[in-house]
Amino acid sequence: MPIRLATNCTNCNNFNNDSTCAQHNIKVTERHTCDSFDMKATLKNNLNCGTCVRYQTATCPHPTQAAPEMLCSSWAPRAVA
Ligand code: SF4
Ligand code: SF4
Repeated sequence: MPIRLATNCTNCNNFNNDSTCAQHNIKVTERHTCDSFDMKATLKNNLNCGTCVRYQTATCPHPTQAAPEMLCSSWAPRAVA
């Protein structure tokens, strides 16, 4: 089962630095989402082996093909501080 980035407010384009939603003008957290969710382009366009937690580990199902510009359905996000 592929693990993907969460579709929650902290990954949404409408999430402001002060933890408010630019669309609904309320405080939101990583526990919230809504039908207007819009994945940040910086996250959406950054799915590749280079950002995959499995890269160069035994859990990668394609170790011989994996490369920074490649991607497969087993991609899983690295922890972000
Ligand atoms: S409430 Fe909806 S639009 Fe606002 S930040 Fe969360 S997901 Fe995005
Ligand atoms: S091949 Fe798939 S699982 Fe392996 S590092 Fe690339 S995206 Fe991750």
